Amino acid sequence: MTSPTATATAPRTYAVRTFGCQMNEHDSERAAGILEAVGYRRAVDPMDADLVLLNTCAVRENADERLYGTLGHLKGLKDARRAEGRDLTIVVGGCLAQKDGDTVAERAPWVDVVYGTHNLGHLPDLLARADADHLPVVELLETLEVFPSALPAQRGVRHHAWVSISVGCDNTCAFCIVPALRGPERSRPVEDVLAEVRGLVADDVVEVTLLGQNVNSYGRDLAGRALFADLLRALGDVDGLLRVRFTSPHPRDFTPDVLDAMAETPNVMPHLHLPLQSGSDRVLRAMRRSYRQERYLDLVERTRALIPDASLTTDIIVGFPGETEDDFLATLAVVDEVRFDQAFTFQYSPRPGTDAAELVDRFVDPDEVAHRYRRLEERVRAHSHAAHERLVGRDVELLVTGPSRTDPGTWSGRDPANHLVHLPAPTPERGFHPGDLAVATVRSAATGYAVAGPARTVTRTAAGRAAERAAADGAVPTASGTPTFVSPTLRRLPVVG
Ligand code: SF4
Repeated sequence: MTSPTATATAPRTYAVRTFGCQMNEHDSERAAGILEAVGYRRAVDPMDADLVLLNTCAVRENADERLYGTLGHLKGLKDARRAEGRDLTIVVGGCLAQKDGDTVAERAPWVDVVYGTHNLGHLPDLLARADADHLPVVELLETLEVFPSALPAQRGVRHHAWVSISVGCDNTCAFCIVPALRGPERSRPVEDVLAEVRGLVADDVVEVTLLGQNVNSYGRDLAGRALFADLLRALGDVDGLLRVRFTSPHPRDFTPDVLDAMAETPNVMPHLHLPLQSGSDRVLRAMRRSYRQERYLDLVERTRALIPDASLTTDIIVGFPGETEDDFLATLAVVDEVRFDQAFTFQYSPRPGTDAAELVDRFVDPDEVAHRYRRLEERVRAHSHAAHERLVGRDVELLVTGPSRTDPGTWSGRDPANHLVHLPAPTPERGFHPGDLAVATVRSAATGYAVAGPARTVTRTAAGRAAERAAADGAVPTASGTPTFVSPTLRRLPVVG
């Protein structure tokens, strides 16, 4: 391995590959910020990077096989580089690194650095040690030293930022490995969150998504006990912050004051991603999810009464150990009653280290799980289509995210309720850039998105003007500016909430 820092003449380059959830995306932005702070620059071509950092997820199915498969490819690349007299630094961080520990370096000794979920801030030191020792350096801490949000960040999207308000989780959901890997819940002081958000707004960010495994228990560990509703209201006073979103709330801890704060704070968007997991009380009990169907539906009813335009999205697991046909029908009944705008559905599969993985004698036949999953997907798609149909004929204000990946004539944006809406590309007469606000009339709908006519009015924002300046300097806008509430790579089991 060559020097971990860059020289003035030849900056070393990096590429970060993120697996899993929004928390990992947030941490990857910090990892990139740390690397930039010590002189690295983002590689234009990731395959040509001098350093590759894999930010791993332990929740995704077969996560370890995927990691070791990727590391096998990287070994080939590293060997080829060495034959050319160059090197490739390989770093493995995140949840799977925390879970597997020394195993990563034993199975893939060509890795240079392994770090866990609590010590991202040590990355420069670990790189320096690996460089000096020419051996894999493994460092895993049991507790968090520095809140990751306090670390420098290099955001992937100009107008939007992930802001972590708490880390860890005090719950014990039977299917979830997160508490074992991220530790007990720790909230970040309100002043720290506000300071970060004000700094982001000064840096042209107009939308933030607050992140926590359970945002509704935010603040219970803080002196003075500023709670989540107080935080939302405080963010309402940040000048220039146009949109605030959050994920994930927990139905058990969701208190009425949060709904009041959402309804009364104009920049808090009318969207609730409320993980259901199951509509059966029996299964919820087995999952150790301490709410029941009645409480969930009551929360939905109160949300709709107070915030009529709110969209509701969710996560659902099919085939949890012991789930019967009647349990599944209870889930379908909730899906039909709530009519979710979108639902991320997962077929249960055991995760090593979780309590549910031990319930082998209660596993549901995989064919039956697949059958239930298809029935659920059908309902979910129908409700999603209907939710987007209801937008037809309405004017929606879109925060523009960028051009389509496949059709430069089509751009995309998100309405306040987080519906994805496509619209025609900007024109010389009606120009806009990613981060601007465009009002357009929805003309048609499909499952998961709607299609609008040309922008009728445009409100320029600090983010849009910054994107315009960047475009003038040659930057190409991308479609990556869309915050999603469950990672598209996570199709088998939810991560948060
Ligand atoms: S599913 Fe969410 S609330 Fe439950 S243990 Fe995992 S992170 Fe915590």
